[in-house]
Amino acid sequence: MDKNKYFTISDGLAVFGPEIIQILNKLDAIFVDMSKDFMADNMIFPALMRVEDLSSLDYFNNFPHLGLAVAGLTDEACGCLTSQKEKVTTIRQNNIKNSDYLLPSAACYNVYLHLRNEVVTQAKYYTTAARCFRNESEYKGLERLWSFQMREIICIGSMDEVQAFLSVYKDKVSSLAEQIGIIFDIEVATDPFYDKQGTKALMQKLQPVKEEFVFEGTVSAASLNFHRNFFGEKCNILNNTGAAVFSGCVAFGLERWLHALLKTYGHDLETIHGKLNNV
Ligand code: AMP
Ligand code: ZN
Repeated sequence: MDKNKYFTISDGLAVFGPEIIQILNKLDAIFVDMSKDFMADNMIFPALMRVEDLSSLDYFNNFPHLGLAVAGLTDEACGCLTSQKEKVTTIRQNNIKNSDYLLPSAACYNVYLHLRNEVVTQAKYYTTAARCFRNESEYKGLERLWSFQMREIICIGSMDEVQAFLSVYKDKVSSLAEQIGIIFDIEVATDPFYDKQGTKALMQKLQPVKEEFVFEGTVSAASLNFHRNFFGEKCNILNNTGAAVFSGCVAFGLERWLHALLKTYGHDLETIHGKLNNV
């Protein structure tokens, strides 16, 4: 249990009061503003993702450990529970129906699924936020939550367009950090996005696929991800020559930015507001 004047965290689940909500809202507004330079469409997607859709993105070959399945209770279980006298503390496995849905672990998957089978003739930009869930082995304060808020900005286009987009955001995030006084190291992440084997793996080693803005050596607060044409291929999103499009995303974890601000300014919220207001 992590409890202070402003928030409480227990089992990786955070409760925020009004002072922190103001900061989280300001951070999100800053990231949305950043997306306006590319006239990104802001989208809201459902809170649950279909297992079938995630499967089409090879999710279960790559990230099954992060998955959290959602399912209703069986009719028998409902019958028993309504008449049960003892307090219910666990829903047993055999009382749950098969699950066709998962909680999202990243915000951007929905965008590629949304564009399935489309022909994209010029670069498209989106932004979307999601309450994400990751089944991590342990949770730690604001740094590693079970449920957290992710804002992403996404580019779908040619390889050059996506790389230009990522390079613009690398600069934008760096200058934002400087403006608000957070010190990040930019690190190339070693885990390649999706494709672990095959011919693309070599390409990915030569060309970074993920860079992270890391606070105090361990906490990645934002990541720049180059997916090559992985999602274009999986979702059959094609350009006007019939080739699969490229994609990339910038992902911000709101609570980790909050963590970096609180650590940098020692819970002095007035100073934090001052910094955020000047962006
Ligand atoms: P990733 O897709 O792993 O690059 O995650 C994108 C962003 O989400 C990271 O840069 C973090 O800011 C945030 N994030 C990822 N996992 C967690 C977590 N367990 N708790 C809080 N924030 C997270
Ligand atoms: Zn993403």
